[in-house]
Amino acid sequence: MDFSYPPELEQFRIELREWLSENLTDELVAARRNLGRDDATFEMMRAWNATMADEGWAAVSWPREYGGRGATVLEQLVYTEETTRARAPMPLNVIGMNNIAPAIMQYGTEDQKKTLLRRMMRADDIWCQGMSEPEAGSDLASLRTRAVRDGDDFVVNGQKIWTSLGHRANWCQLYVRTDPDAPKHKGISCLIVDMSLPGIEVRPLVTLNGDADFAEVFFHDVRVPADALLGPLNGGWQVATTTLSHERAGAARLYAEMQARLEELVDDMAAQAEAGDDPVTLRRLGEIALRIKYLEVLCQRSISATLHGGDAFGSASLAKTVWGEIGQDMAALAFDVLGSRGAGAWANYRLTSRSLTIAGGTSQINKNITAQRVLGLPRK
Ligand SMILES: Cc1cc2nc3c(=O)[nH]c(=O)nc-3n(C[C@H](O)[C@H](O)[C@H](O)COP(=O)(O)OP(=O)(O)OC[C@H]3O[C@@H](n4cnc5c(N)ncnc54)[C@H](O)[C@@H]3O)c2cc1C
Repeated sequence: MDFSYPPELEQFRIELREWLSENLTDELVAARRNLGRDDATFEMMRAWNATMADEGWAAVSWPREYGGRGATVLEQLVYTEETTRARAPMPLNVIGMNNIAPAIMQYGTEDQKKTLLRRMMRADDIWCQGMSEPEAGSDLASLRTRAVRDGDDFVVNGQKIWTSLGHRANWCQLYVRTDPDAPKHKGISCLIVDMSLPGIEVRPLVTLNGDADFAEVFFHDVRVPADALLGPLNGGWQVATTTLSHERAGAARLYAEMQARLEELVDDMAAQAEAGDDPVTLRRLGEIALRIKYLEVLCQRSISATLHGGDAFGSASLAKTVWGEIGQDMAALAFDVLGSRGAGAWANYRLTSRSLTIAGGTSQINKNITAQRVLGLPRK
């Protein structure tokens, strides 16, 4: 595959690189590794998101009318490479900007688009996505949180779980069952819910490392105005599965992020003089470096499919599985060698890396997708 870039892209790269070098502080780069965001770090990130948005660098893939740059796939690729290499933190509303905003652009009313999107991009409002429930994770269509129409409102009862940023969120893109008698994929609707409504109870979930990155969210007779419906009534499955993400080169983040982490690990080992010339450690490092190269090729295959009309989703599923496994092995290596030393972040990563093969679709589900869509194996 030939990934040489045309000259105008190099101009785009230089402009972004210069902007990042002028605006991205060491404090922000350090905060990127501090996963358990305390309030002060969170507010610093929020201010950074606003700066990026105001300068047009927050959501380059979004259409211009919504504050983006309408960036081409290759511009998005360059953007991902440069922001990752500069160690820029991910946006606070990463799920919102990649998954929820495109649904609002596609299905939202003019009023929803006008009032919600820019504030999301600046992180003025924090968003969460209420899909998973205790009995509905991989099999999302089994969700049971109920919404019943009553006059001008839906009355919502039920529970969501693993809701990232649920305890900080102002808005939730909530998937609910509106027709319990229809086949399970056909009775789901999507609501945009103001998290300050009476009857919403949020309980932060504290994980092994002491962080609270996500929450359980309970809905007790919550009256949600009917105009909060996003997309057709009982068409929530369609909203969840057919929304066209504008982020077309997102796979690049997978290899760029692992490459950046590996460089940090090598630096931290060198600073601690821990790796030395221990052949076992060097061999483990070498294997990870090689697997990251393999991951890069997989990601390029997915991006190439995006450019040339192939099945980008199938190859991205394989890349996501490989990414999760590399991350976990790198975390294990870092912890074996450095323990809790080395910028203090590796012990944390050792614990949080368990989620890499679960969040956003488990490895088993991704392997099923790879089997069917890449290898062409039968479903059963
Ligand atoms: C860090 C993190 C952040 C998250 N953020 C959010 C969020 O913001 N909003 C949200 O709604 N959810 C969120 N989730 C939840 C996430 O989407 C689910 O954890 C995930 O979909 C898996 O669902 P589950 O945990 O219920 O596991 P299950 O679906 O119960 O799976 C249990 C095990 O069975 C396997 N399995 C299930 N079905 C199959 C199958 N058909 N074939 C083979 N194996 C199978 C799975 O791979 C897994 O190993 C988050 C999760 C994590 C870890």
